[in-house]
Amino acid sequence: MNFLLRGARVVDPAAGTDERCDLGIVGGQIVRPAELPSGAETVDLSGLIVAPAFTDLHVHLRQPGMEEAETIASGCAAALAGGFRTVVAMPNTRPPVDDISGVRFQIEEARRSGHVEVLPSACITRLRQGLELTDLEALASAGAVAFTDDGSTVSNDTLMRLAMQRIAALGSVLFDHAQDRAAEQRGVMHDGAAARRFGLPGIPADAEVRIVRRDLRLAAATGCRLHLQHLSAAGSVEALRQAQEEGLPVTAEATPHHLALCDDDIPGPDPNYKMNPPLRSAADREAIVQAVADGVISCLATDHAPHPAAKKSFGFQWAPFGVVGLETAVAVTWEVLVAAGRMSPLEWVRRWTTGPAAVLRRSPPSLAPGEPADLVAIAPDRPRVVDPSVFRSLSRNTPFAGRVYRAWPVMAWIRGRRFDL
Ligand SMILES: [Zn+2]
Repeated sequence: MNFLLRGARVVDPAAGTDERCDLGIVGGQIVRPAELPSGAETVDLSGLIVAPAFTDLHVHLRQPGMEEAETIASGCAAALAGGFRTVVAMPNTRPPVDDISGVRFQIEEARRSGHVEVLPSACITRLRQGLELTDLEALASAGAVAFTDDGSTVSNDTLMRLAMQRIAALGSVLFDHAQDRAAEQRGVMHDGAAARRFGLPGIPADAEVRIVRRDLRLAAATGCRLHLQHLSAAGSVEALRQAQEEGLPVTAEATPHHLALCDDDIPGPDPNYKMNPPLRSAADREAIVQAVADGVISCLATDHAPHPAAKKSFGFQWAPFGVVGLETAVAVTWEVLVAAGRMSPLEWVRRWTTGPAAVLRRSPPSLAPGEPADLVAIAPDRPRVVDPSVFRSLSRNTPFAGRVYRAWPVMAWIRGRRFDL
């Protein structure tokens, strides 16, 4: 099918442009409208923003082993509904992705599941136990695009240094869930006023900051590319900013929930506000927003972490950590970053497209003629209430239910095929 997309505001970070223009799509590729054969279907996109379809570096697809929470197929459906073309799957499944059969399973299952590209990451250590490195070289050859023990860090400095040396030699990248297990104190909420009010054990911000500092030191020593996952604390941003000024190859991501919410916003001990790292103080939140706005944090990522309602009903202390995010990511981040005047639409799209692509060393998603027609159309002012009952995800655990947001993805083209979202 061929299309003429008319009247949209086309935001293309790879070209650095944000302008009203028409786009053509022929056989899965973007073309100049003048090159369209006759008979192309005209789609009026006036009032909409068109951007390259988004990439999410941090998604839990839960398969194998936790299919009651999500499957690769349902996670891909949620990703497409959210405007995503590409997701990086975290390896903390059951069993974890720590051998090549796990990587192959993810790739094969995603191929069967639909139109979203699933890039597997693999564990740094066997069974994510932090004791013995996986066969990093074999995993990379099988298709793992990054290495992480997400859910926890590798506590042993010597082992982490060895991992970084080998990952650097592979030219790959280490993603770290930077959190000191010893300093976590079995906490469930940010160690602050809200935790004290609810009588719940806290996780201090320093648990993150000290591992961020350790990781930066090891990255400097080994030359390994390091990507810091879901940063939540002002101190982490400060360390990251300094490391980047010193020229270290280090990037980071922030999640919609850490940008939109702080611990003061937690209305009660509702497990839909329980995630790891936790929602931190208003000052931490502001530091994360500022770092995304000025590009020190170059990626937005959801940390989409589905859990079935039954598990989230255990109460705040015992419920598992994590919230879903794929289907509200555009709405929430637009509100906090663009509608609030913190950054331009162009920079916001950059954090969801070329930023993540650079971390993976992939060519930047672009809307130039000749590029694959992978794009998303976003209505920037069509207010809608978040209704988890219509999520494509199998899980509903979101802190944003009932809130009203104005910007939503409404259409996507993946390899030239049109989807109404
Ligand atoms: Zn994590």
